[in-house]
Amino acid sequence: MHKGIVVILSGASSVGKGAIRKALLEDPDLDLFYSISMTTRPKRDDEVDGKDYYFVDHSEFAQAVKDKSLLEYTEFNGYYYGTPKEQVNFLRSVGKNVLIEVEAQGVGPIKLNIPDAVAFFVMPTSLEELEKQINTLYNDDKASAQRRLNKAKMDMEIAPLFNNIVYNDDPEKAHMTIKEIILKEMANRKEV
Ligand code: 5GP
Repeated sequence: MHKGIVVILSGASSVGKGAIRKALLEDPDLDLFYSISMTTRPKRDDEVDGKDYYFVDHSEFAQAVKDKSLLEYTEFNGYYYGTPKEQVNFLRSVGKNVLIEVEAQGVGPIKLNIPDAVAFFVMPTSLEELEKQINTLYNDDKASAQRRLNKAKMDMEIAPLFNNIVYNDDPEKAHMTIKEIILKEMANRKEV
């Protein structure tokens, strides 16, 4: 049996990775399993613990770091986020493809641990569009909007390091572009 493929979905902050992630996870041809991250960020009303994230407090997160049980972790907008190692390793070992969604700084450490992971960077069609999107999403928290915009600009600077850059002018189009690359990768690995 072949080890599953690890697909990393990253991109500028608030670029709309969520809709692309949903389309990829619902695509039966890709058979992707979602890697659920651990975070110290408070749960939003529409989120479910153990499905969207594992919501933990600072001491639990610190323990996971100490135990080296995270593949990578980062601080983003005042909260910690990390990818639990065990679920990714388990899914891969039973031949399942895994989707990991991380902000841009998380990609390097994952690629170091899993060099054959396939990384996608989702770019906005323009910085103006992204700014509009961030201001709409974080209308009631200007400081948060500014931090996200600054982070998005920094992330876009490292985008050329990714082998696959996808423009998100339409999530369905982005889904199909990513799908095509993953299907090729799956076919290549079957041949080895
Ligand atoms: P949000 O708070 O909006 O759910 O996520 C904020 C950012 O953290 C997003 O860009 C998301 O992709 C990223 N993120 C979520 N989980 C992880 C993780 O485990 N590691 C890293 N490095 N980033 C993550």
